[in-house]
Amino acid sequence: MAQTFHNFIGGRWVPARSGRTFANSNPANGEVLGEFPASAPEDVNDAVEAAARAYPAWRLTPAPRRAEILLRAGEIMRARKQELARAMTREMGKVLAEAGGDVQEGIDMAFHAAGEGRRLHGVTTPSEMPDKWAMSVRVPIGVVGVITPWNFPFAIPTWKLMPALVAGNTAVFKPATDTPELAWHLAGIFEQAGLPAGVLNLVFGSGSQVGDPLVADPRVPVLSFTGSTEVGLGISTRAGALGKRVALEMGGKNAVIVMDDADLALATEAILWSAFGTTGQRCTACSRVLAHERVHDELVQRLADGARGLKLGDGLDPASQVGPLINRGQVERVQDYVKIGFDEGAKLVAGGVPATEGALAKGCFYRPTVFAGVRPDARIAVEEIFGPVLSVVRVTDFAEAVRINNASRFGLSSSIFTRDVNRAFAAMRDLDTGIVYVNHGTTGAEIHLPFGGMRGTGNGHREAGHTLLDPFTEWKSVYVDFSGRLQRAQIDRG
Ligand code: NAP
Ligand code: MG
Repeated sequence: MAQTFHNFIGGRWVPARSGRTFANSNPANGEVLGEFPASAPEDVNDAVEAAARAYPAWRLTPAPRRAEILLRAGEIMRARKQELARAMTREMGKVLAEAGGDVQEGIDMAFHAAGEGRRLHGVTTPSEMPDKWAMSVRVPIGVVGVITPWNFPFAIPTWKLMPALVAGNTAVFKPATDTPELAWHLAGIFEQAGLPAGVLNLVFGSGSQVGDPLVADPRVPVLSFTGSTEVGLGISTRAGALGKRVALEMGGKNAVIVMDDADLALATEAILWSAFGTTGQRCTACSRVLAHERVHDELVQRLADGARGLKLGDGLDPASQVGPLINRGQVERVQDYVKIGFDEGAKLVAGGVPATEGALAKGCFYRPTVFAGVRPDARIAVEEIFGPVLSVVRVTDFAEAVRINNASRFGLSSSIFTRDVNRAFAAMRDLDTGIVYVNHGTTGAEIHLPFGGMRGTGNGHREAGHTLLDPFTEWKSVYVDFSGRLQRAQIDRG
């Protein structure tokens, strides 16, 4: 009998009021891992109430004290890293080394955000009047609603919750339905670290039953969302009408440009890692290669050989290089896009079918797939597939590559392989994405740099980095007049 897990509301572990549950399963073999509350608006209401009740005391807790709790949480994560990584591989599928990286990002963010407890810097500046003091300070906003996807089930929640909490907000967290267990671990870690009751509340359940009411609740002035563009824009529309602040991190269609002077062995290795790591289910995954015509054919050959050589299997097996997709629906989506690729006249050079031999038949496995001869405006070259499908597009020069990169609806990450320093700097300037890599694939962000994308990927916010507090704080400007008389600022200038 699978374990039954509960919501975390007001410091207590409680089932959904209805008592209903949903199953969490392992995409590598279909095994049921646990039953989680299928919560409803009434449970969201309880959680928001608890968060609102906890806010006044948490807001007034000195920030360095708040930060100590984050530090402790980071230490607990570090001690439990392997166990958390294994749990992640089981519920989400990514191979164990990558799951360890996901947990490590959470640890890094705990320590990075905890440092803010002794910074939270504001600005002092001279007043234009005599005997007057002027400064600006960051202040928390209130209850933050956090809605996250399944592909980084630990890292992404920490990117949002750590900065929100250290700044003095309280939170209601709705994780993805496909990866509830890591969210459960994260809430338990905060509890163990000594977070006061109600400061973080966790509600499991669907987008419509839990996400929607959280977006609509007037007591939740800030929403931080990572997920698909479709869902993000819907949230933004509904929350915008209510005057809320919404930080969105959405889809990507990230390109690697390979110039004719590139180190092809390095480029191949990096592209394979960016395209097929996490089975292509990273927001920063490479799904387009823009290959210079002079190296195109050789690169296609190397990528096809490399893709065919990747070993698929359960991520808990150290020999596995590519794990399963997240669920059956995603396998079908990938299969549909492969068919679209054929219909568009692209040439399949690797993969193109689900992997079903032996034990793979029990899981959601799909062969790493490479298409060559893809037109830059083909659907497989412009739409986010979120699976192990790579499209290679032939380009004649750097300018064309930049043009195709920048024409995308999305703008998260891009990369160029070249040995020409002038071209590398031109690329850093001209590639319109929130993240640009030189001689590295499109994945591998470090948490102390701002993370986010342009155009359809986001709405101008950046997570992590030195910008980590921006989505979760307001600026307050404070003037103190110690002249003892009425000074009227600009009006007294005459
Ligand atoms: P998704 O379907 O958009 O779901 C994201 C979250 O939103 C889930 O918790 C989901 O709940 C919830 N949700 C769904 N409908 C909702 C509604 N009507 N109101 C409120 N919440 C709702 O995305 P996903 O399939 O989990 O993740 C894959 C997507 O995330 C890809 O597009 C990927 O590019 C993007 N992503 C972007 C970044 C980035 O930083 N830019 C990072 C990682 C992933 P349920 O799980 O219950 O449906
Ligand atoms: Mg989904």
